[in-house]
Amino acid sequence: MSAHLSLNADLHCHSVVSDGTLTPEELAQRAHANGVHIWALTDHDELGGQERARVAAAALGIQYLSGVEISVTWMGHTIHIVGLGIDAAHVGILEGLRRTRDGRGNRAKLMAEQLLKAGIPGAYEGALHFAGNQELISRTHFARFLVEQGVCKDTEQVFKNYLVENKPGYVPHLWATLDDAVAWIKAAGGVAVIAHPGRYKLSALQMEELYKHFKDIGGIGIEVITGSHSPNQYQTYGKIAQHYGFLASRGSDFHDPEESYIDLGTLPHLPNYLTPVWSLFH
Ligand code: AMP
Ligand code: MN
Ligand code: MN
Ligand code: MN
Repeated sequence: MSAHLSLNADLHCHSVVSDGTLTPEELAQRAHANGVHIWALTDHDELGGQERARVAAAALGIQYLSGVEISVTWMGHTIHIVGLGIDAAHVGILEGLRRTRDGRGNRAKLMAEQLLKAGIPGAYEGALHFAGNQELISRTHFARFLVEQGVCKDTEQVFKNYLVENKPGYVPHLWATLDDAVAWIKAAGGVAVIAHPGRYKLSALQMEELYKHFKDIGGIGIEVITGSHSPNQYQTYGKIAQHYGFLASRGSDFHDPEESYIDLGTLPHLPNYLTPVWSLFH
């Protein structure tokens, strides 16, 4: 077993720069307190927190990898691609992400119009109030507003009854293409990783197509141990990584102490037959 496997790596989480509730500095401290050795902040479609995270991690003696989680539309579905070890000042990825973020404001207004028709007024302003970054208003911020209003008891209930397909507040959106997202990550010197594959509502054939195409265009890794997977899925996606020759990643997808099931750095280790993606960096 590679020594890398026993390192506590957490390569997926969110700050106030996207839809998390802690600052990059607070996350660094939490990672440190929880024994994280290698950490990446992976805000959605945004690199604005990278410098702060890097500085805070260095002060605490944690190895830091620059990160991002890019929203992608693939075969009509939203999937997420994590980029790790990127140059966070690279103009190509900065510009690509800026364009990816662009439609969020308009989408948010359309979401609020639907919620108004469903009897919930003030959702745009309400969600914006929760957004730490006005350019990154997301469904998570709407979910927090709906909980605050007493419409749902927690964000999990929101994502069952609102903001998802065929429910009030769902607005379909075109994100970046898979090819663009992977190209931006590669051009910025990073590696591309498929985030939480267990969450996508794709057929088995479509998933196969995703793995093959991702590999063809230079995708390197896949999340195996994530806060979004059940223990059964750890095995399922461990086998997928092995089958396709992907490096494996591990990340909590931590957003908030109360909302998130899994705290930073508190996940099981990767299965020992896999090669961790962080072996490229450590
Ligand atoms: P958006 O990028 O605006 O579509 O928002 C996506 C975000 O919503 C994800 O990154 C999660 O933080 C959150 N989200 C989506 N689905 C769920 C869910 N079922 N439970 C909790 N959070 C969710
Ligand atoms: Mn999120
Ligand atoms: Mn995600
Ligand atoms: Mn995430």
